[in-house]
Amino acid sequence: MRATFPHVALSTLPVVDLLDLVGSGECRYDPELHNAPDVFEAEPVMERLARVDVAKELCEACPVWDACLEYALRTEPTSGIWAGYSHRELAELRRSVRSTALDQAA
Ligand code: SF4
Repeated sequence: MRATFPHVALSTLPVVDLLDLVGSGECRYDPELHNAPDVFEAEPVMERLARVDVAKELCEACPVWDACLEYALRTEPTSGIWAGYSHRELAELRRSVRSTALDQAA
């Protein structure tokens, strides 16, 4: 996960355009790194943790990280690593962003 909190301002780009940007990401060379290798096969815990750590490191250097984060926040994935966040971390980030937006609107 990046050290600095991202500036999250959802653009008006259609989700499909964001998906095009995310398709240029570092993970395109090894998609299994950001997802479990096989949903029907149990992945040993230590292997999963190591895989997730490497996936998050790859996200740190990704040229489309911002677009990926925006895409993930808008599409609410239920698995995988997106912009260095798990789907649970993304859900927490979404709640935080919405809460901040509501506070600013009040
Ligand atoms: S930030 Fe991570 S998940 Fe997103 S496109 Fe880049 S490598 Fe893939």
